[in-house]
Amino acid sequence: MPLNKEERMEKIDPYEPCPCGSEKNFKYCCYQQARIRRNSSINLKEYTNSRLNHEASKNWDNTDFKVCLGFNPEECRPLIKSAHAIQNNRILNRISENGHVYTISSKLSKKAMDADFKKVSKNKASTFFGFCDYHDTELFKPIEHEEYTGDPIQNFLFAFRGFCLEYHRKIRKMNSIRNFFKRYPQAMLNPSIITNSYRIAEFDLSDSKTGYEAFKEVYTNGNFEDLVTLNRSLNYEVEFAISSAFAVKDDLLGKEINNIFGIETEIIPYICINIFPVQNQTTIILSYHKKYEKVYKEYFEQIKALTDSQLEKYLNFLIINYTENVFFSPRLIDAMSEREKNSLLKSFQSSMQLDKRLELLKEDQFFKFNLFQQQKQQV
Ligand SMILES: [Zn+2]
Ligand SMILES: [Zn+2]
Repeated sequence: MPLNKEERMEKIDPYEPCPCGSEKNFKYCCYQQARIRRNSSINLKEYTNSRLNHEASKNWDNTDFKVCLGFNPEECRPLIKSAHAIQNNRILNRISENGHVYTISSKLSKKAMDADFKKVSKNKASTFFGFCDYHDTELFKPIEHEEYTGDPIQNFLFAFRGFCLEYHRKIRKMNSIRNFFKRYPQAMLNPSIITNSYRIAEFDLSDSKTGYEAFKEVYTNGNFEDLVTLNRSLNYEVEFAISSAFAVKDDLLGKEINNIFGIETEIIPYICINIFPVQNQTTIILSYHKKYEKVYKEYFEQIKALTDSQLEKYLNFLIINYTENVFFSPRLIDAMSEREKNSLLKSFQSSMQLDKRLELLKEDQFFKFNLFQQQKQQV
């Protein structure tokens, strides 16, 4: 008898595709191995921290793959290059110092996850193997070669590029879980690993696929205004840049808009966010697909009603709580006090670890930093 919805959250049905990614049914693939090794533990405990970090980053490197997410594959040119989700010459250039920017890197330790700032070359920042040479150049011409004017096709392209970076990461996340299952088949019978890792990655991936199809539909029909867009411009340059897409859990009043940890089968749609400095200004672009009006319309109305400083405060939270695809100018981070840096890194971790959140609230350090801090006049 097939498993019901609740059972499927923690168990692999014998007739569903094997979690190792082979596309064979579980019963005829890894099931026997999983049973045989059922009682051998997954030995993470004896690993030292540096070994764990080494393994984790090696595993992550092993998940990388090349794909072109351009819409008409017949036009692809074979070379998939490492494409920037955030424009190198227009944007990263502006926030970099000596060719470098900062990002948040998370490290694994035995007990939890640690976060720290990491200096990366602007040439590598936000790159991923998501477009062929042709599509990376041709598809994005309207934002590469022209200033941003709020044109619907530009809004579409900014949103799409940030989305693609996250989509690519979601696939890598699933690849990393599959690699883990291949090494430890017994984990396929572990209810907490199935619930907390595999099913979540599966839902995320399926939501991303649906999101991608929605972008494709907009592009194919040329109805770029189907992407509902909110833009705002600030009259100074921020010292960071973000391009990302994610599902928002609560609205500005704390009311739940998406149950991102639930077992609902309906899709959880994304919003796309781009924030970047231009000459003496900052551009903010937020968007969602019109078909998800029911989920995001009111939320966007709430954001629209905010004053600039309220908006900055809210975005400060939204950015650090929901994504790691944000890059900071060394000028911004170096000007922060140790307390502020610490608050930023811990607030970032708190999105995944409840205990961190409680700790920060107790110390009154929860989101006590300001990404929109204006720097002293630079020359
Ligand atoms: Zn298998
Ligand atoms: Zn292509």
